[in-house]
Amino acid sequence: MGWSLKLGTIAGTEIRIHMTFVLLLVWIRFTHYQIGGAPAAWEGVAFILSVFVCVVLHEFGHIAAARHFRIKTPDITLLPIGGVARLERNPSQPTEELLVAVAGPLVNIAIAALLFAVIGGVAGLEQLARPQDPQIDFFVRPAGVNIFLVLFNMIPAFPMDGGRVLRAILAWRWSWERATRVAATIGQGRGLRHGCGGFVL
Ligand SMILES: [Zn+2]
Repeated sequence: MGWSLKLGTIAGTEIRIHMTFVLLLVWIRFTHYQIGGAPAAWEGVAFILSVFVCVVLHEFGHIAAARHFRIKTPDITLLPIGGVARLERNPSQPTEELLVAVAGPLVNIAIAALLFAVIGGVAGLEQLARPQDPQIDFFVRPAGVNIFLVLFNMIPAFPMDGGRVLRAILAWRWSWERATRVAATIGQGRGLRHGCGGFVL
């Protein structure tokens, strides 16, 4: 993907960050600085970076599941709207497709469960729904982010994970082509990329 910088390589997968994501960090720092000075600016940047980590871990859920089926992931790119994992090829069986697609959101469910254990399960729905609010507890915010990541990515439309889950389920009954056609009319695209939303908070 053009306009992206290589951050490093983990287990054979290049982690790339798109220039627009760098601009998002600059913008978040600037707007938070206007509101609350340097401490607020760094808190804003730390929050976005925590979202970044959760999205990368989500992508590695897909990567680990794909690797299980001997599919390599040459690179992932982080954009302001989320992460994109480029798989070497599409899973060939509906079950493979299903498992690769759900592995990402499952990582976020695990992170949210861990954070709930840390905060002792005391977080209102109202707090969880506003993870971008700096007034909310430090651990509650990422818990809200991870729940958001699960809900957002399970929207049954391509190229979201939910669209792939839908195609896998349809392909159990129909042919792969028909399942793809139906699932693709709900969303867009049918390529090798796993689009995972995340930063639209
Ligand atoms: Zn995903």
